[in-house]
Amino acid sequence: MKGWLLLLLLVASPVFAAGLKVYPRQVQDGEAFLLRLEAPDVIFAAVRWNDAPAIFDLQHDRGRLLLAVKPGQAPGRYPLQVYAVDRAGRTRRYRNELNVVAARRPVERLTLPSAQVTPRKPAVLERIGRERRMLQEIYAVDTPSRFWSGFRRPVDNPVGSPFGLRRILNGHPKSPHSGVDFRSPRGTPVRAPGAGTVRLADTLFYTGKTVVIDHGGGLVSVLAHLQSLGVKPGRDVRPGTIVGEVGSTGRSTGPHLHWTVRLGGIPTDPLTLTTLLRTRETMVHPVGKD
Ligand SMILES: [Zn+2]
Repeated sequence: MKGWLLLLLLVASPVFAAGLKVYPRQVQDGEAFLLRLEAPDVIFAAVRWNDAPAIFDLQHDRGRLLLAVKPGQAPGRYPLQVYAVDRAGRTRRYRNELNVVAARRPVERLTLPSAQVTPRKPAVLERIGRERRMLQEIYAVDTPSRFWSGFRRPVDNPVGSPFGLRRILNGHPKSPHSGVDFRSPRGTPVRAPGAGTVRLADTLFYTGKTVVIDHGGGLVSVLAHLQSLGVKPGRDVRPGTIVGEVGSTGRSTGPHLHWTVRLGGIPTDPLTLTTLLRTRETMVHPVGKD
């Protein structure tokens, strides 16, 4: 009965064309985008995206919400509808749309020793499975505090392999590159790309010495193939905190830094964060107290 009542309220609630901004208006699959709700009297707002509800943090993030377009998501115009409740308990809807275009990803051919490509030892397979489950558990956490400002590159070196690069390993097509590689010399300090809490600092089979940072709200960074780890799990970091040094540990062909970003579990191009979440101005401003 309550469900029907809620549905009736939502259907009857007025629709606003203004007030919901989308940055940028056009994105490629695999990229992130920001919604901004400019409605000071709204106390709750949520949008349905990728078949799941996402809730705005109106207390601490001034109505910003970061969302990801899945790699391979079909191009087209996607309607965005935000359901909101104002201080007086009135419901309303805000509408906009996002234009998704297909990314053109480059192709790279790699050759690695077959022992590294197809590990068969039961102990190794068991380890890989255990580490994958451990990472999936971290990706699934939606920490309420969102540190979604002041993002920067973890190293200043140029990009070697971009996100989404289609790799052909020893002649076999592999899943697309899950992050971005920087051409960094061994020993280069690796900095936290954004604030957050270290959830993992350990040696994993594929990514070698690895640091995982939880930026809150389901946004997670993985910094891989490090030569040394400079932080421990549980440590809070700021943008720029040194978390380790560049190396070539794990499945790697030479020194470089690999940076993966997951948003709500979805692999997302990390470089989109350094543009969307660069500024610090929106960090903590309660709604209506400008
Ligand atoms: Zn990589």
